[in-house]
Amino acid sequence: MDGIISGEGKGKVVLRVTSVEPHTAELTSEQLRVLARVARKYGSRVVHTTPRQAIEVPDVPRELVEEAVRELERAGLRAGASGRLTRNVFACSRWCLYNAVPVAELAEELNRRYGGAEMPAKLTISLSGCNFSCSRSRTSDIGVIARTKIRVDREKCIKCGLCVNEPLGCQVDALRVSKEEPVVWNRERCVGCGFCSNVCPVSSITADERGFDIYVGGGGGFFPREARLLKEFVSQEEVLEEVARVVERYRELAEPGERLFSVVERVGLEEFE
Ligand code: SF4
Ligand code: SF4
Ligand code: SF4
Repeated sequence: MDGIISGEGKGKVVLRVTSVEPHTAELTSEQLRVLARVARKYGSRVVHTTPRQAIEVPDVPRELVEEAVRELERAGLRAGASGRLTRNVFACSRWCLYNAVPVAELAEELNRRYGGAEMPAKLTISLSGCNFSCSRSRTSDIGVIARTKIRVDREKCIKCGLCVNEPLGCQVDALRVSKEEPVVWNRERCVGCGFCSNVCPVSSITADERGFDIYVGGGGGFFPREARLLKEFVSQEEVLEEVARVVERYRELAEPGERLFSVVERVGLEEFE
């Protein structure tokens, strides 16, 4: 069965669990209640959250795994995210003020399509709502990062400083404001996170367009690799199309057990495309 990890205790396993809708990072109160009950009834009364936002229930006796999984399934949770399966599609918080575009719904759609799908090897898909990339989109097999193109109207600026001062100001010093001078935007430094447009109280800075960059071939582990930019500033529909293409290509080109980053390194990004 998928999602069963050998544990420390003899005859006991760690049950790895994910949710498709909402995705695991947004479990409902009902799902949390069921997880608590399963941990109490079958495990050691604790759960663990993995770095990829899957939930583990440790210390489950092997002979009770099927029963525990049936209880979880009734609450929309499933055992998985192990072996040669796609891991939980991983998204940052839709409530974060920095979001250029909240990515939770896209994560759910990708989870519906690929969560738990069998692949040549483990496959990680990570989505970030802005360039901070809290979800580690640049060290995943497939990474998606939301971006904006901003427009600056200096006439409207009231010099409040919100877009430049801590804690909400531009993190890459792409804006400058002083008592004497309204906002000045340095396009070269701007990474398109769009945060300034979220905090400006008078729409002196607005997000004109919103889109997504797609990265492939990143990886963590012993030898971390930075993913390569595959597509720039595409729409949500195009993200779904591109991810489908990447997954198809990966299945075509990979040797059994070969990670996507290894395929991209072996054949080159151009050939991969
Ligand atoms: S990646 Fe950006 S939007 Fe997402 S949680 Fe981090 S700061 Fe917020
Ligand atoms: S100026 Fe650019 S980098 Fe700075 S907050 Fe605005 S969009 Fe982000
Ligand atoms: S937040 Fe808006 S109004 Fe305030 S300094 Fe920045 S651009 Fe000007």
